[in-house]
Amino acid sequence: MSNKVIPLEAIPDRSGHTVTIDGRNYLVMNDAMFTFYQRSMGELSDFFLALRDEKKILGCRCTKCGMVRVPPFVTRCPDCNFAPVETVEMGDTGKMLATPPITYFANSLFQQQVPFGRGRLLLEGADTALSVNIYTTKGILVPGLVKKGTEMKVIFRDNRVGEITDIFCVPAAELTADQLAQKGLTASALDWETSTEPALPPAGETEAQHFAAVLQELQALVGEMNGCERARKDIAGWHRTVLVKAAGGEFTLKIADGELTVEPDKTGPSDFVMVCPDPKVLLDGLAYRGSLTQAIMTRNLWISKNIEFNTIFKLERMARSLARSKKV
Ligand SMILES: [Zn+2]
Repeated sequence: MSNKVIPLEAIPDRSGHTVTIDGRNYLVMNDAMFTFYQRSMGELSDFFLALRDEKKILGCRCTKCGMVRVPPFVTRCPDCNFAPVETVEMGDTGKMLATPPITYFANSLFQQQVPFGRGRLLLEGADTALSVNIYTTKGILVPGLVKKGTEMKVIFRDNRVGEITDIFCVPAAELTADQLAQKGLTASALDWETSTEPALPPAGETEAQHFAAVLQELQALVGEMNGCERARKDIAGWHRTVLVKAAGGEFTLKIADGELTVEPDKTGPSDFVMVCPDPKVLLDGLAYRGSLTQAIMTRNLWISKNIEFNTIFKLERMARSLARSKKV
């Protein structure tokens, strides 16, 4: 199915809820009002058409002072008494103008894209910076990975519609020389699978004992989660096998449509890898004593695929659901 203007998950269920006012119950139903509209890209159409159809980034150069603006948001230069500008094709590499902030908690429209950075990229030869989303192909996006001055390459999405989100950028250091040289590089041409796992500290008897104790507690917690209807709903329809590596040992976390299991050791191929030197970080997150997202941001928890932050998000919801069901 093609992407819809309103994502399916943003559409409320056909149901309602009860509101009690002064002892009387009132039924409030979800309903909808449709107001679609069309918007013209106007004079910026050439820029968006070039993105969509030719995988090119256009800028404009003042015929008098030579200033290059990207995107080409003026047709005459305000610095040169409105001298005309000419369209120029830009390259697709550049440097970050400032350190980009990272979004982990997005509204429902962008939830499928987190975590992403958003910053301004100064393309080679340009005098103004382009606002662009930032990703990494090597594990999870964490603070410090992309900074002011980091060399970046613009990547084109495979399915382009003519919006600025048709492009994003990744650190140039993650690409091969061939990829860097290639014009109009697409997302599917990148290697999203190979990432370098952070090294675990050396482990001895103490770490092994700690690991065994945490694993036991984790198994008990998972048992509780599976008995909680609310928590099960959070991973309904979701299937993931996660290899968890900690100092002191490894185990497998399996998410299978409402059922969560913890099995000792590696049990076969996994969808992604989680590295947490102290396994208690994961236990605390699932027990709602800490936050897994916070652990990722502080580099106490690492995952091998950025897109799997969605799975982390679901696990955090399970933790919250179990904690809430205990309160009631
Ligand atoms: Zn000018």
